[in-house]
Amino acid sequence: MSNKTTDIDLLVRLNVKELKPYSTARDECELKYAISLDANESPYNTGYNRYPDPHQKALKDAFVKKINLNSRTMNNRGQAPIDEQGELTTENIFAGNGSDEAIDLLIRVFCNPGVDNIVSISPTYGMYRVAASVNDIEYRDVRLNADFSLDSKAILNSCDSKSKIIFLCSPNNPTGNLLAREDILSLLDSFNGIVVIDEAYIDFSKNAGFASLIIRYNNLAVLRTMSKAGGMAAIRVGFLISSKLIVSYLNRIKYPYNISKVSQDIAIKSINENRREIVNQIISERERISALLKKTPSVKMVYPSDSNFLLVKFDNAKEIFKKLIENNIVVRYRGDEPGCDGMLRITIGKPAENDTLISVLTSGERSFASGYLEFTRVTKETRVNVRLFPEGAPASYFSTSIVILDHMLDHIALQSGLVMEIEAVGVLEVDPLHTIEDVAIVLGEALSGLISLKTGYNRYGFVLPMDESRAEVLIDFGGRPYFVWEAGFKGDKVGDFPCEMFRHFFSTLSLSGKFTLHIKATGESDHHKAEAIFKAFARSLRIAMSNKISEYQVPSSKGII
Ligand code: PMP
Repeated sequence: MSNKTTDIDLLVRLNVKELKPYSTARDECELKYAISLDANESPYNTGYNRYPDPHQKALKDAFVKKINLNSRTMNNRGQAPIDEQGELTTENIFAGNGSDEAIDLLIRVFCNPGVDNIVSISPTYGMYRVAASVNDIEYRDVRLNADFSLDSKAILNSCDSKSKIIFLCSPNNPTGNLLAREDILSLLDSFNGIVVIDEAYIDFSKNAGFASLIIRYNNLAVLRTMSKAGGMAAIRVGFLISSKLIVSYLNRIKYPYNISKVSQDIAIKSINENRREIVNQIISERERISALLKKTPSVKMVYPSDSNFLLVKFDNAKEIFKKLIENNIVVRYRGDEPGCDGMLRITIGKPAENDTLISVLTSGERSFASGYLEFTRVTKETRVNVRLFPEGAPASYFSTSIVILDHMLDHIALQSGLVMEIEAVGVLEVDPLHTIEDVAIVLGEALSGLISLKTGYNRYGFVLPMDESRAEVLIDFGGRPYFVWEAGFKGDKVGDFPCEMFRHFFSTLSLSGKFTLHIKATGESDHHKAEAIFKAFARSLRIAMSNKISEYQVPSSKGII
């Protein structure tokens, strides 16, 4: 493969070539004199009273060392082409306020407003289009193929003499895939303008990327960022790796002190830390979650990813997005992007966060296909998981951290014949209220979900004595939530369960399960009364949910509904 030379000077806007860049006090004189009276700074030391290095020498040193090291290691493993012509230097590096700054500056260096155009792919990262509009530059986008691969011929066909830059993104956002090396090389070989490859997500891929090729192609610019694998999105530092000439043009027009000292210092420290373990963990989570999503009934397609996110096609993406929001999980809706109908972009989180995502997604799936019906609710205070198993499953299991609640739920399971697992993790030290309420909400949803699977259900009532106490519970699964409560408690608590919460538990259950519930109880012992209520409730539930008609059932005028 021969080196290709593009006449960069010919591509640069005339005004950029001719302008005299602003010269900072630090450009004219480094901060090395005992007395600095040249930059109108404050003489009093706050740690930040002096302007930062406008050329970010130390930062670029650290970055270029890492890039050269990575490319050498990759070469030794035979994973990247050997760069026979030497290593990169700091002059090949532009450092910006995020890689977004470099995107904007590239357009400003090369494109004449109202005249030139840039060409990119679709769907892709939205900032290329925005930066083009801000600069009054026509934006031409070329659809990726159905499998999100690059159609390099179509890209070339859409270029004309006014096309100055082709923006590619690999791994691409939001599709997650790498673009094929040969397709990119063919553009580099045949396009007479600048080819930008945005490699924001390259560290999540096994591919070495294109940085080492900038010595062969003087029209190539590679974008990197500290915001993704580097874990430093807040400090806003990104890089452009390119020929010395292109970098020098960007430097001419950048703000003089475009990266703060705080960001430069933190970036240097962070570049020198090894983040491989965290990145590997994200990659292995990506593979684990991709496999789990593929088994989720509402998921139609999980696209292969070389990045830290997955593009997922759902049957009903808008509803899924809403359901996740209701559970305090936010993902990116990408359904309006070309070729992304019904798709959500899901960033890979920590393992526990990913687990929660999966349980919310599988929660309420209306089938026992996975072995159980699962319902989940995640709030800032609690995370509740209810699983209902088909008849004949092994014993129920409860872990809500509230002993009496576990005990009462056990009565519900035993007496109703439902096999269930209920787990609640909450901030109990503050107040058990949220946990009790959320368990009632999710259990109600679970009962309503179970009812929707059944062909028949009915009204039923049960009266249960317990020594001196008695409880009477009436249920109607007609779909109308209505709650009646005639029961009082003498004390404040039964075990660790606040008595005021008994009423709240059942009213929430009735509301969330959408059924009518009447509860009446009398007696001396609060414990007996509570237990009688839970048992009578479970007994009513058992027959009301049964498909078989009981002699004692109260039929609806609509028959078995
Ligand atoms: N390129 C791509 C492909 C991105 O997805 C993003 C951020 N979402 C960026 C660049 C911007 O990165 P930075 O934080 O460095 O501006």
